[in-house]
Amino acid sequence: MSHLSTRLLSRHRETAKAHIYTIQQANICGRVFHTFCNVDGNDLRQTWKYAFGTNQSPELMSKWDKPSCQDRLDQICDELSAEGVSVLQAQLMQMGGNTLDKMGLVGVLRWWALGSHTPTGLNGIPLHTRLRSGNSELHRRIFEHALSTDNLSYGFSAPRWEDVEGKLPADKVVALQQQSVNRCNKVHVDINGPDYLSWGLMATPGKGLISAFGDHLTPVNDTHLVCFGPDPECSAGITLDNLDTVKAAVVHLLPENKQGEAVINRVVSHDWNKDEFANGTWSFPPPNATTKYLYVLRRPHGNVFFASADWSDGWCGWIDGAVQSGMQTARQVILEQQKAAVVKKKVLPKGPSINLSIDLSKGIVRCVI
Ligand SMILES: Cc1cc2nc3c(=O)[nH]c(=O)nc-3n(C[C@H](O)[C@H](O)[C@H](O)COP(=O)(O)OP(=O)(O)OC[C@H]3O[C@@H](n4cnc5c(N)ncnc54)[C@H](O)[C@@H]3O)c2cc1C
Repeated sequence: MSHLSTRLLSRHRETAKAHIYTIQQANICGRVFHTFCNVDGNDLRQTWKYAFGTNQSPELMSKWDKPSCQDRLDQICDELSAEGVSVLQAQLMQMGGNTLDKMGLVGVLRWWALGSHTPTGLNGIPLHTRLRSGNSELHRRIFEHALSTDNLSYGFSAPRWEDVEGKLPADKVVALQQQSVNRCNKVHVDINGPDYLSWGLMATPGKGLISAFGDHLTPVNDTHLVCFGPDPECSAGITLDNLDTVKAAVVHLLPENKQGEAVINRVVSHDWNKDEFANGTWSFPPPNATTKYLYVLRRPHGNVFFASADWSDGWCGWIDGAVQSGMQTARQVILEQQKAAVVKKKVLPKGPSINLSIDLSKGIVRCVI
């Protein structure tokens, strides 16, 4: 542990900036997150009993789907200190990558249910589960595995949205247009020395970044920080094209007495918002979208099936959601193929009859004359 982690929470009420260290971080973040998510007075334990599924308690789900996170914060802000509000705002912006008025309350409640209805549950599950190899390597391995079964034939092409749009039903087109509001920036920073390994911070408004966490030590003993900032187009965000602005935003997050001596050795980021194939970071719903559109998005259109992490009714916007959605959709396809297995009997005008049996699920065609 670094010496920084043993310090008590420093209070910067005048700038509404909270430096938080390990145990304190869990306590403060957990407390305010709990207050925010306890919309039914029972931590959603009965009303959103199963983390997977926005189709339980339909009336309540539909009620909670309408407000934004800002609406919910306005309801509870009297119960929170200025520091609590600052930490909560930063926490929520890190989840949804935008300003609170753009983020749907249901998106946050879903994360609460996924975290086993406990204040720090979410941190305990996914944020401590690391893919050492990285996301791209996972994709490659899944793909190579599918190829090795000899059951996969594939073709890659890049359909243009204009070509697809006209072929989809109107409700699907509207649903697709209502998608994720998450435009967050994720920035990797190597800062000189090992001191920040056990340090973390959440701060609003910040100078473009609202949180930073020590992740690991690099081979040269620098601390690798992972930092997040909201939508570059909102007043709290920055674009990634100016290195000095990014560095200034990182330094602003550091403890004030350490800012002068901070040396940043490396900054790595990818602009997911400008990436035409990603068009933003992980999925986070706007208000009034989940109960209206999630099932529309997942509904097959003819023999076209739709799978995506963004449309998972479990880990929506997570890798686990992509796997879940892919498996569910594969099952849908198999069931449809089994339904399509038909037996047709055709009597020829003169002579024998033909029994034609096609089992698409097994790729078998039988013809008996
Ligand atoms: C910065 C960042 C950090 C994240 N951190 C985490 C995390 O810590 N944990 C976690 O679980 N999840 C995380 N996620 C979310 C997770 O990566 C995604 O939810 C998941 O990868 C989505 O999987 P998918 O298969 O649905 O879509 P994708 O992985 O986005 O796959 C869609 C594919 O389609 C391609 N494509 C798009 N348009 C076209 C087109 N027109 N023609 C052809 N190909 C096209 C894309 O290039 C892409 O390869 C993160 C995401 C980002 C961006």
